[in-house]
Amino acid sequence: MRKLRIGIIDLVTKAPTRALYARLMNANMASIMPQVIAVWCEEEGHEVTFICYTGFEDLAKMLPENPDLVFIGAFSQAAQLSYAMSNFFRSRGAVTVLGGPHARCYPQDAQKYFDYVLGFTDKSVIRELLRDCSPQRPYGLHLAAERQPATLPGVQERWKFIEPTLRKAPTIKIVPMLGSLGCPYTCSFCIDSVVPYQPLDFEVMKADLRFLLQKFPRPRVAWHDPNFGVRFDDYMDAIEEAAPPGSIDFIAESSLSLLAEPHLKRLKRNGFKAILPGIESWYDLGNKSKTGKMTGMDKVQQVADHVNMILRYIPYIQTNFVLGLDVDEGPEPFELTKRFVDLAPGAFPGYSLLSAFGQAAPLNLEYQRADRVIPFPFHFLNNNQAMNVKPKNYSWPDFYDRVIDLTRYTFSWRAIYRRYRAMEETIPKWMNVVRAVSSEGFGRIAYFTNLRRLLDTDRQLRSYFERESTELPQFYIDRVRKDLGPMWQWLPEGALHHDPNAYLHSQKAAAATPVSLVAAGSMPPEARPGGNGALQTPAPARPIVT
Ligand code: SF4
Repeated sequence: MRKLRIGIIDLVTKAPTRALYARLMNANMASIMPQVIAVWCEEEGHEVTFICYTGFEDLAKMLPENPDLVFIGAFSQAAQLSYAMSNFFRSRGAVTVLGGPHARCYPQDAQKYFDYVLGFTDKSVIRELLRDCSPQRPYGLHLAAERQPATLPGVQERWKFIEPTLRKAPTIKIVPMLGSLGCPYTCSFCIDSVVPYQPLDFEVMKADLRFLLQKFPRPRVAWHDPNFGVRFDDYMDAIEEAAPPGSIDFIAESSLSLLAEPHLKRLKRNGFKAILPGIESWYDLGNKSKTGKMTGMDKVQQVADHVNMILRYIPYIQTNFVLGLDVDEGPEPFELTKRFVDLAPGAFPGYSLLSAFGQAAPLNLEYQRADRVIPFPFHFLNNNQAMNVKPKNYSWPDFYDRVIDLTRYTFSWRAIYRRYRAMEETIPKWMNVVRAVSSEGFGRIAYFTNLRRLLDTDRQLRSYFERESTELPQFYIDRVRKDLGPMWQWLPEGALHHDPNAYLHSQKAAAATPVSLVAAGSMPPEARPGGNGALQTPAPARPIVT
């Protein structure tokens, strides 16, 4: 087999940027699977150039002049950037491959712009691809393993790619680690709800932690597990065996149900500094917050007590909510969240607008059948810039009025001050202030307020929201053009648009097509059965929640 020049690009941002926060933190958002692919490609004897694209790099200069193959890993919000990059590298003769959450959620669309689109990716999928990576145009091939890989290269094997990425983070450096895949919970909107829970090798984890203690005086590790601590005792035993208590700072996403007081004591002892549980709704998903059938104000009180207890052990907590779920109706869900902000002043509330990411979750088929999915360009699908499911129980103006009211309440100076006062450690205190006054707090209030104004004044935009028109409002086109900057010129024609019901169509086509008659790759994408899989392991199509 000929030695290939391979470029691997991990897109942690959706556009070129010069923002200070991006400079400080983007490199810490690196995904694990692009690093894994890089390891596997080298093991197959190829020459790899790996880049974590944080928005500051000139890729044309950093990659070899004429790469044979370019892998790109992207979340959906970076899809337009990835399409533009693919077009650029194809113009230089490269064959392009997309993996990651976007490839998994929207394979039919991605196949229009990439030669290969990856579902679940294991080493045999990569081997197969490397054996014959001939161009596939106009429609790319969809390649997928049946399930997630049983093992992955650990930090030591990936270090060659982790180290240069961390060099881009000037102050705080966070190493991504993974102890498990999938989740035993079944939150209907979440991509991991359909991936069986599977722990990875604890021996690899222990060796990696020991390795990191040699590299940093006090390492910081972010667990990319969709739901950390499902096998709590096994994890803690492994951490305690490998690292002296408190010698490593950890960050993890974990459901509230796993954060009982005895667990919190052990987490504290082992250096856990930040935890991100999902509450989602006051009327649903009680199993993961351990509130059972309790709803409404009773659930608010119980969750607030639980969160306040967590804060006695873990210095930083972000509680996640999904706004606009079908169970929500009227003012109450929003008012209850405000009460929670009052009762648990130290928690940083993370709000996500309900979003259906293509074929991430079976529930999305219901939205598509009901014609409720709006094809906002992927660029806006980051859980807050666009809600791509028409709310069931709210008009758009009513919904945005309530979202704005809640966001203003949460990031009022009074709430910011109370949050500051409720925390003990200096960095978490100030982290919350910075988040509130930057894009997550004040920035969102401004964005939502502008959008709410346009719902009243921009007829074209309102018709698009109401599904009366499919013409993309100029507001969105202008924003993508501005954000992509020099990459805009490479965005292929039509790449701002996608079929919002592609998942549904692919299911119908799969049911109607005798599989033995047609190879998946030879069908036009709209007729192909969909596939699942991810190049990037952090849960791709859920809010940052567990
Ligand atoms: S949202 Fe969290 S708890 Fe629910 S299925 Fe996804 S990873 Fe699991």
